[in-house]
Amino acid sequence: MALIVKKFGGSSVKDAEHVKNVAGIIVDEYKSGNNVIVVVSAQGDTTDDLIEKAKEISPNPTKREMDMLLTAGEQISISLLAMAIETMGCPVISLLGWQAGFNTDSHHGIARIKKINTERMKTELAKGNIIIVAGFQGINKYDDLTTLGRGGSDTSAVAIAAAMSADRCQIYTDVDGVYTADPRKVKGAVKMDEVQYDEMLEMATLGAQVLNNRSVEMAKKYNVELEVLSSLERKPGTIIKEHTKMEKTLIRGVAKDTSVTTISLVGLNDKPGVAFKLFNKLAQYNVNVDIILQSVGRDGTKDITFTVSHEQCDDALKAIDAMKDVFECKEVKTNNSMSKISIVGAGMETNPGVAAKMFEALYDKDINIHMISTSETKISVLIDTELADRAVQAVHDAFIG
Ligand code: ADP
Ligand code: ASP
Ligand code: MG
Repeated sequence: MALIVKKFGGSSVKDAEHVKNVAGIIVDEYKSGNNVIVVVSAQGDTTDDLIEKAKEISPNPTKREMDMLLTAGEQISISLLAMAIETMGCPVISLLGWQAGFNTDSHHGIARIKKINTERMKTELAKGNIIIVAGFQGINKYDDLTTLGRGGSDTSAVAIAAAMSADRCQIYTDVDGVYTADPRKVKGAVKMDEVQYDEMLEMATLGAQVLNNRSVEMAKKYNVELEVLSSLERKPGTIIKEHTKMEKTLIRGVAKDTSVTTISLVGLNDKPGVAFKLFNKLAQYNVNVDIILQSVGRDGTKDITFTVSHEQCDDALKAIDAMKDVFECKEVKTNNSMSKISIVGAGMETNPGVAAKMFEALYDKDINIHMISTSETKISVLIDTELADRAVQAVHDAFIG
């Protein structure tokens, strides 16, 4: 008897019909003789709708109360899914994150899993139950509910697979695997049979929404092989693992991240320690900084521009405000209509001219680049969001065709 962890995203359980379809997949697995633990997200756009509801009440709710609100989305979907399985005559129990043993740190809205107490899940499996766990949530040491960040149910699933030493971890979604670019947006995107953890991690971090990046990080760390597959069609998906048989191509995929805010500090003192103090404070506020650009100093001043996600813009501005007595800065400018387009691939390291080819593809479409960042396995450019889809298509055409 194997232990199978299955995760279903919001699109797979968006209404009663979809919930019943998912229940059918779970029951088939159970009836084939396996133990099944399921992680489920909130139905459809529930999480976004809850965020909108909060905005109607308060412009700046505390993160604790936001977590209290958002965890409700998954409470609805686990109970409905369990009811659907009950009607099919199988023993089932739904568990909230804390009931399933998810202990996290206290960073509300972006909590990290510290430990999973697996006792309850083991007891329920021993009773023969299918377990339905609310993804994206846990509890901190003060017994307050926490959430793991948007798309966090993927991480919940991988964490359970690791903690319970599952035989398989399957992430069901509304596409049938991982493609070279978002198959809903990019013509000619190609489905991949296998992807390495590192390439998937880059793709996910750079905006390929199909998997949450923390889930891939965790899968790599605990060597959990993942399969991304469709909840609507029963066919093999994409396997994510350490070593693949994929031939080395120049680039593996193109990703787009539209949640980019640039923050520019104009007229900073040009003296040692300014960058350290600024980014140290941002780290204290738990802000993840991405691309950083510093201008050449002139007349004793310089400018620093960096990017953060839309979600973290407010925290970044608070951190900067907390520094106002530490260094002088003439102006702070923000722009949240920027997108990051990236190419990813382990093969680019040894191939000169990849960056030039990417820039040429953008130049051909008259798309201006605002910032550039490179590493051994990726090249990212920052462009205006209104041009982002055209840019992804152009870059994908240039490399993958
Ligand atoms: P779920 O509700 O199952 O969590 P998500 O919406 O979070 O689903 O992720 C699935 C979506 O990810 C797909 O519908 C697709 O549009 C998008 N996507 C972006 N990049 C890729 C990619 N490279 N391969 C597959 N899907 C991608
Ligand atoms: N419901 C949460 C979200 O929309 C978690 C998830 O879908 O994974 O971000
Ligand atoms: Mg998702």
